[in-house]
Amino acid sequence: MAQDTTAPEDLDSFRLRARTWLADNLPRIAQGTAAMDLQESQQADPTRARELQRKLFDGGFAGICYPKEYGGQGLPREHQRAFNEESAPYEMPLVFNIPTLSILAPTILDFGTEEQKKRHLPAILRGEELWVQFLSEPTGGSDLAGVLTRATRDGDVWVLNGSKIWSSGAFRSDYALCLARTDWEAPKHRGLTMFIVKIHQPGIEIQQIMMVNGMREFCQEFFTDVHLPAENVLGAVNDGWTVASRLLYHEREAVGGGSQYVSGMSVGARSGPMRDLADLAIAKGRAGDARVRQLVGEAHANDAVQRQLIERIGASIRLGVLPPPAGAIPRLYGGMNSVRRSSIGLDIAGADAVAWADDDSPEEGIGTFFVMRQGSCLGGGSTEMARNIISERVLGMPREYAADRDKPFDQVQRNRMPSR
Ligand SMILES: Cc1cc2nc3c(=O)[nH]c(=O)nc-3n(C[C@H](O)[C@H](O)[C@H](O)COP(=O)(O)OP(=O)(O)OC[C@H]3O[C@@H](n4cnc5c(N)ncnc54)[C@H](O)[C@@H]3O)c2cc1C
Repeated sequence: MAQDTTAPEDLDSFRLRARTWLADNLPRIAQGTAAMDLQESQQADPTRARELQRKLFDGGFAGICYPKEYGGQGLPREHQRAFNEESAPYEMPLVFNIPTLSILAPTILDFGTEEQKKRHLPAILRGEELWVQFLSEPTGGSDLAGVLTRATRDGDVWVLNGSKIWSSGAFRSDYALCLARTDWEAPKHRGLTMFIVKIHQPGIEIQQIMMVNGMREFCQEFFTDVHLPAENVLGAVNDGWTVASRLLYHEREAVGGGSQYVSGMSVGARSGPMRDLADLAIAKGRAGDARVRQLVGEAHANDAVQRQLIERIGASIRLGVLPPPAGAIPRLYGGMNSVRRSSIGLDIAGADAVAWADDDSPEEGIGTFFVMRQGSCLGGGSTEMARNIISERVLGMPREYAADRDKPFDQVQRNRMPSR
């Protein structure tokens, strides 16, 4: 690949160019719109987000940290951060951020063939492809190397059978990265392969799952003799664990808040459960209450720690001071902070957050966010798994015992064994 030797555009001139372009091209968010509402409406129907992503692409602001040869801008992470700051008051295609731009496209960048990269990365940056992760299964998500969904080689194609679950946004997506078992005689980490799966094709049935807060974002998929062309293998056959580990690294970065590939946050729209808790205390007439002031202070301190942690751990990984699994540290802290923040919101809003009238939307947001709070400690791998990673792969403590580690997978005892 030819090396691009041109120096990146000066940060100040890039920021100014972005500011002017955003003002001329993107709609401003209406005052008081919740970032979460914006995200939820894009999740239900991504048509608008696809159009916005196309605008970014045409304007030269899509994929700021992606290489130019795949449709990106080839700029450093500081430029993406400046763009995120400038784009805060504007409507951005947020639904593209996780997992498409920050997890799956970077994994394709790391492991894709030249053809796979040229086929998918520019299409993603143009807003034409939304992606989803087909990793977790009904029999367990934490034990990712224990997947039972299988792909069997049949001439030129692989035939996929099984089921995946908790896939965020599968119903609105175009492609997935899917981890499947391809060798049942190898130990569990060595018989897996990662596939690129076109979602809307014969043999794939998607069911949306209704969550306790009314969301229908999660899905379960059922695969019956789905045909995958041999060139859809990402990485090497039976080396899917290497690809999955890298994907999980990108996921920890994204979920922990440190990904350079996240584009825009529309933070200018903060309200609802994400609104500033000081504003909430004022709105509830509780700003003078010493306990409430303490809670607001705690939430702000927690946020400050999280921001610093993202910066420090991210920089240490990039400099090689810490190993890549250290990305589990901000991911762990982010999950815990999110749970704590939802409890603080509930404490400040009081009874208004558990029973509300239709026009009390901020209180409703706090209540529904609270019932979903554990999600932030599960998505992207649970906080318990993050603790395991930190102890084993960052601190060098002994590995957790696993009875199935080096055993051929077809000899591992489990409750349910699918037919092969
Ligand atoms: C918001 C959100 C988005 C998600 N999006 C996706 C997606 O797009 N695609 C996808 O494939 N999956 C997705 N998931 C699923 C997620 O990856 C799984 O929920 C997660 O991996 C945990 O798996 P599980 O739910 O099967 O829990 P289990 O693995 O059954 O675990 C249950 C509990 O036991 C703990 N536990 C399990 N094993 C150990 C151990 N060895 N040591 C200590 N504790 C342990 C877990 O940490 C957890 O607290 C999403 C989940 C959420 C909440």
